Amino acid sequence: MNNRLDADLLHALGDLDEALAILDGDFLVALNAPMQALLPGEPGGLAADWAAPLHGLASALAAPLGVRTRCGVSGEYTARRVALDARHVLLRLVDERERLHHLQRQLDDREGLLFTSRSLTVSEMGSVLAHELNQPIGATVNLLRGLKLRLARRHPDSTDELAALDKAVQQVTYASQIIGRVREYTQSRQPKTERLDLVALVHESLALLDWDLQREAVRLALSLPEAPVPVQGDAVMLQQVLINLLRNALDALRLDRPDDPLIDIELRLDGARAELRVGDNGPGITPQTEARLFLPFSSTKPNGMGLGLSICRSLVEMHQGRLWFSRREAGGCCFHFALPVMAAETTPTLEKTA
Ligand code: ADP
Repeated sequence: MNNRLDADLLHALGDLDEALAILDGDFLVALNAPMQALLPGEPGGLAADWAAPLHGLASALAAPLGVRTRCGVSGEYTARRVALDARHVLLRLVDERERLHHLQRQLDDREGLLFTSRSLTVSEMGSVLAHELNQPIGATVNLLRGLKLRLARRHPDSTDELAALDKAVQQVTYASQIIGRVREYTQSRQPKTERLDLVALVHESLALLDWDLQREAVRLALSLPEAPVPVQGDAVMLQQVLINLLRNALDALRLDRPDDPLIDIELRLDGARAELRVGDNGPGITPQTEARLFLPFSSTKPNGMGLGLSICRSLVEMHQGRLWFSRREAGGCCFHFALPVMAAETTPTLEKTA
C-alpha cells in the first residue's frame, strides 16, 4: 500500500458496523458512519475538521495497542490500531458496553441452561432411580412375605422372628411408597409443545458450548439444511439432549485425543422424520461399553454418573423420537436421534407418555 489508499479498502470501511477510521499521522484520511457518529461536531471537510479531535486521540494511541480511552463521547471504548503501511494506521474503536453486554447475555444464557439442566437432571435422576429401585423393592416385599408364611407354617411359635419380619415388610413398603411418590412427581412433568426449529437448536447449543469447543481446539463439521426443520417439543429438553451428546463427544476427544479432533453434526430429513447425527473421531466404544450404553449408572469416566445417555433417551422418547448409537466408519462413534417433523399446518399437541 502506498500514499493512495486502495479504493476497495476505503469502500469496504463504509459497509462495516464497527467504528473505523484511517489516519495518516494525525490526519484523518477516511472514516465510516459508525466512527462519524462517535466523533463530536459536524463532519465538514474531512481531514481539516476532524484533525483536531483526532489529534488528541492519535497521541493517546501512541501508547501501546489496546489503550482504553474516552474520546469525547459518553461510554468506554477500547481503541485499537493496526498499521496498514509505513504511514497509514487503521483505527478501530470497540464499544466496550456492547461487548460486555454481549458477554453478559452469553453468561446469563449459560447460567439459565445450567440451572434448567440441573433441575432437569435431578428430576430425570429421580425418575431413573424410582424406576430402578421399584423392582428390587417389590421383590424384597414378596420375599419377606413368603418367608413369613413359611416360618409361620413351620415354626408358629417364633413370634419374635415373625414380628421382625412384619416390621421389615412395613419398612420396605414405606420405601416403596416414597418411590411411588417420586414417580408420580416426575411423570407429571410433561414436555412443552412448542414449534421448534432443529437447525436453530443446533446453532444455539453450539453457541452455549463455544468456549469448550475452542478450549479443546475441536474442528466442527456441520451439515445442516438451509431451511428450518420444524419439530414439536420442549426446546430446553431437546437442547439438553444435544448438549449431552456434544459433551460426551468432547470428553471422548479430551481423554484420547486424535491428531485432528473432529465433531461432525448432520441434520437430514428422512420422510416425515428428522435425523440429527452427532459424530466424533475419538476412541469409540468397546462392545462391553456398548452393551450397557443406555443403562443408568454405567460410566467409564472417572467421575461419570452414567446417567446422561439414559436421560437423553427418555427425553427423546417423550418426544415420540428414538435415540441410538452407531460406529463411525472413519473411527470414533456416532449418536443419532430422530424426531417426527411437524407439518406446516399442524397444531402443536404431544401425546402423554406417562
Ligand atoms: P457419563 O458421561 O456420566 O459417563 P453417559 O450416560 O452420558 O454418562 O455415558 C455413558 C458412557 O458412554 C460414557 O461413560 C462413555 O463410556 C460412553 N460414551 C458416551 N458417549 C461417548 C463418545 N462420544 N465416545 C466414547 N464413549 C462415549
